[in-house]
Amino acid sequence: MSQYIDTMRNACVKLTRPRKLVLDVLQTAKQPLSMKEIHKRIRKKADLASVYRTVNLFQTLGIAREVPLGEGYQRYELVSEGRHHHYVLCIECGKLENIDICLLDQVEKMTHFKILSHSMEFQGICNRCAG
Ligand SMILES: [Zn+2]
Ligand SMILES: [Zn+2]
Repeated sequence: MSQYIDTMRNACVKLTRPRKLVLDVLQTAKQPLSMKEIHKRIRKKADLASVYRTVNLFQTLGIAREVPLGEGYQRYELVSEGRHHHYVLCIECGKLENIDICLLDQVEKMTHFKILSHSMEFQGICNRCAG
């Protein structure tokens, strides 16, 4: 929690109530959430427009990132030091699973690039939906 608040403080961004609410939701979420899901989870204590503004601000500050899953809308999660997930999404039921694979190190070794950002998300049909 504190690292994100420090980031905001360093950027002279106040921890307003909507910002605190959104931060809490993203921190307790086990999976990346859409704007609407975030809005629902803060029990509409702030309007959807301020959820959008807050999440966009978090992205600018490097607190949150987009998780592109090809759903036609974006999901967001907090950026955490040294640890991130990749996901596989079931396009039938929306089930999301973490994948503990990342090719970042290999790509850096292969290309001698310093990689700044990457995404590697999968869509498919889960066991239950296929059966
Ligand atoms: Zn499914
Ligand atoms: Zn990765």
